[in-house]
Amino acid sequence: MLGLMQNWPLTVDKILDHAKEWHGGREVVSRSVEGPIVRTTYGQIHERAKRLSNALKGLGVQPGDRVATLAWNTGRHIEAWYGIMGIGAVCHTLNPRLFAEQLVYIVNHAEDKVIFSDLTFLPVLAELLPKMPSVQHVIVMSDDEHLKGCPIPGALSFEALVSQHSADCVWGGFDENTAAGLCYTSGTTGNPKGVLYSHRSNFLHTLVTMGVDVLGISAKDTVLPVVPMFHANAWGLALSGPASGAKLVMPGQKLDGASVHELLESEQVTFSAAVPTVWQMLLTHLRETNGKLTSLKRVVIGGSAVPEAIVRGFRDEFGVDVTHAWGMTETSPLGTQATPNAAIAAMSDEDQLRYKLKQGRPPVTIQLALQDDAGADLPHDGTTFGKLKVKGPFVVGEYFRGDGGAILDENGFFDTGDVATLDEHGFMQITDRAKDVIKSGGEWISSIEIENIAAGHPKAALAAVIGVYHPKWDERPLLLVRLKDGQEGTKEEFLAFLEGKIAKWWTPDDVVFVDDIPLGATGKIDKKLIRDRMKDYVLPTAQVREKA
Ligand code: ADP
Repeated sequence: MLGLMQNWPLTVDKILDHAKEWHGGREVVSRSVEGPIVRTTYGQIHERAKRLSNALKGLGVQPGDRVATLAWNTGRHIEAWYGIMGIGAVCHTLNPRLFAEQLVYIVNHAEDKVIFSDLTFLPVLAELLPKMPSVQHVIVMSDDEHLKGCPIPGALSFEALVSQHSADCVWGGFDENTAAGLCYTSGTTGNPKGVLYSHRSNFLHTLVTMGVDVLGISAKDTVLPVVPMFHANAWGLALSGPASGAKLVMPGQKLDGASVHELLESEQVTFSAAVPTVWQMLLTHLRETNGKLTSLKRVVIGGSAVPEAIVRGFRDEFGVDVTHAWGMTETSPLGTQATPNAAIAAMSDEDQLRYKLKQGRPPVTIQLALQDDAGADLPHDGTTFGKLKVKGPFVVGEYFRGDGGAILDENGFFDTGDVATLDEHGFMQITDRAKDVIKSGGEWISSIEIENIAAGHPKAALAAVIGVYHPKWDERPLLLVRLKDGQEGTKEEFLAFLEGKIAKWWTPDDVVFVDDIPLGATGKIDKKLIRDRMKDYVLPTAQVREKA
């Protein structure tokens, strides 16, 4: 027997309809790419997004066509998202930090028909366009004035299109399983692969992440999404913001400590989300300038493990609560968040901190599994490492165009490629990426754990740990450190710093000081490149043995 409730397809256009209707005057403030602060509202965004929809239709965009964006977080980028998705086209977010060849590969793989681009990226795009035969139109996210001297012949101006088209456009009316968004994973192994979100998956991700134990955004909040819309969908904030009626503050391209601080204060932001490096820059800026945070209450940090010093810094110096989150492009992206349960909330601050540093627990709809290589379930004892697998209505089922083949196991779980533990409170902790874990004498060493501790050394700017070949143990850890400017350090002092904080057999066999620890397109340490750079390096412990 079927239920008798209304059939109301979960399509994301309804989110912006809601924002216009019930929070129409709520502001969206952007640091524009042109420079000035620009103020608009959900009501205006709704109208302009509809005009864009008509413009896209006029350019021949059909349902299912891919329309790309190469853009910073701004109000215009939100308009483009809804303008594209509302008519059943697919919004393909391009990550401008990718290498040129990867961008070309992705655009061709997706067969993007139109690209929206910020002014910033025009020179690069102009060079790459001849290699992107599917692209018929480029829309520059600015006005006619700024289009002067544009290196792309025939490029259209966003503002001209908005003013030339009417807002009379019907959105939605299609199946909720219709594709809405496309985002490629950075492809640390092989080519990038496309994750194709549906309206339904985006809508459910929005509802789940609005919960108080996840992002918990309310109509009272002022939200600054530093996490880019071009990578992992700004953690859904361009959907959950309007859904909740929160004010949005979009930071554009300036993500340095001073610029972020200025917006936090001038707009009285209460909630923000970003990767650890952004917060590190902010904290450094605040300390150097004796800056204050007068409105910020909560920040969510994820994308890579949050260092303890950041959580403590925010808590003790600025009274800001940090929650740690984990996810991936394949999980829309939020998968877990380290919000205390009742038992943890009853603990002392110091005991709570141990849980805050874990990646957290899954919200309703997300299922997690911890398994060994043979697929057997492992105990949730907080110490046993295993493969982390995930299942749920906003988790990838297959990659775009079937790349990578069948990616789910026989029970429908997706292997995240992360190695983790689960504890008795259901808190998950990432110990490593499967490909980065160091396999020493048949046992696993977490590279992340060592590098996080080493990065806390007062002289360290950045630290990375990789596994290096060893004739007896297969692999042993090597610690690479980039020192802060003007500092000098020794291997001995770094090893002494680790002593007592990690198991003795985890102690790196060597410490190498480097000028550069490369970060990948998504701001994470690029271990693949480090391994490549260190391929001729031989551990001193390996040399001794080989001579012996
Ligand atoms: P990629 O970096 O491959 O494009 P994502 O941006 O989707 O992919 O990153 C997902 C990965 O980032 C996760 O599988 C995990 O390894 C890592 N990650 C995300 N959040 C955290 C976190 N809070 N702590 C540790 N690692 C994290």
